[in-house]
Amino acid sequence: MTSLLLLGASGSIGQQALEIIEQNPKRFVLLGISVGKRIEHLGDILKRFPSITAICVRYAYDAEMLKAIYPHLNIFDGDDGLLALIHHMKPKMLVNALVGFAGLAPTVTALENNIDVALANKESLVVGGELIQSLLKTKKAKIYPIDSEHVALAKCLAGGGKVDSLVLTASGGPFRDLSRDQLLDVSKAQALKHPNWSMGAKITIDSATMMNKGFEVIEAHYLFNVPYSKIKVLLHDESKIHSLVYFKDGSYLADIGPSDMRIPIGHALFKGKRHVVPHTSLSLSDFSSFHFRPYEDDRYPLVALAYKVGQKKGTLPAVMNAANEVAVASFLEGEISFLDIEKYVIAAVEDHTNMRHPTLADLMYVDHATREYVKLMIEVEKQ
Ligand code: NAD
Ligand code: MG
Repeated sequence: MTSLLLLGASGSIGQQALEIIEQNPKRFVLLGISVGKRIEHLGDILKRFPSITAICVRYAYDAEMLKAIYPHLNIFDGDDGLLALIHHMKPKMLVNALVGFAGLAPTVTALENNIDVALANKESLVVGGELIQSLLKTKKAKIYPIDSEHVALAKCLAGGGKVDSLVLTASGGPFRDLSRDQLLDVSKAQALKHPNWSMGAKITIDSATMMNKGFEVIEAHYLFNVPYSKIKVLLHDESKIHSLVYFKDGSYLADIGPSDMRIPIGHALFKGKRHVVPHTSLSLSDFSSFHFRPYEDDRYPLVALAYKVGQKKGTLPAVMNAANEVAVASFLEGEISFLDIEKYVIAAVEDHTNMRHPTLADLMYVDHATREYVKLMIEVEKQ
């Protein structure tokens, strides 16, 4: 029996994780959850999982109101509340399905307390890769990735063999058929239409800019300890080949399956082991329609930036991430254009003086300062 704490239960990954937990009552017991602002999800989740004794919500006023409705629950709030929930529950595994920088401190806190992490929150590894890597060396806890590409890589690597390189597949997002000039006036509605996956808004925009693939390159570097020069990107339209490993004996191994996140989520919850969870299926007749295109740096500058920033380490990845979070939020608010996202991310990285070996406090400071800086740049340009 694995006791679980699920952060981000109301999100796209969170809800699919709940489905898997619910279907395996002999294997998992869910002790607690967090939701952000979407507290309307709580009633249903609490009914389905009577084992939950503590929750965390984003805002203090929601927490106060919920205390009156659920007097039997321990109710926390805010960023500190997420950490208090981890300390209070002491689960065997933390499922981190938060989006953005907010996920970093919970990942670090779990590892520090020897709690395994099933990690969807890739921003944790992008921003805090060095910190997390050193914790993994000194603590007993492990990270089990949820990202489909990284689960695919883990499955391909499990068989052993001398590895030449890792190949991350990328759909190229909704704008893959457009030239850069044609990106000038694409809309929010178009950017939110991912060709293959239904996901939260932020990662959907990150897929359209391919910042997401840049993040995944950094994620792969830390998860599998492979140098950046040995991590490649291949455009594959259908998102059915989830990634490949190229071995020194000249053969590629690929993980192929439906575009269904329940499969990689299940792999992580079952501690990196194959287990049958509910899934859609991929038929052999689908194979004839697989398409590939070469990846080009010039077309996707945020992937190129992530390679550069990943290699330089320090506080630069935190700057790239924070600038991206602010720019994506502004794009979703209709304040800036699609191409402005990469403009602000690149500008913030160029303007930053890198600090080596940052602590969690350093990363929090840089995250905050970058957010303010990018918001100011956007404000100034609006005038
Ligand atoms: P989502 O927006 O659907 O859900 C995010 C969850 O985090 C929600 O429960 C929200 O309430 C909570 N949240 C957001 N900001 C918060 C904050 N500041 N404090 C506390 N809670 C907060 O996002 P998602 O698509 O489920 O993605 C979650 C993570 O998984 C992201 O890092 C994403 O990159 C990664 N991921 C998602 C998918 C997918 O298919 N959705 C695939 C691979 C990786
Ligand atoms: Mg992915």
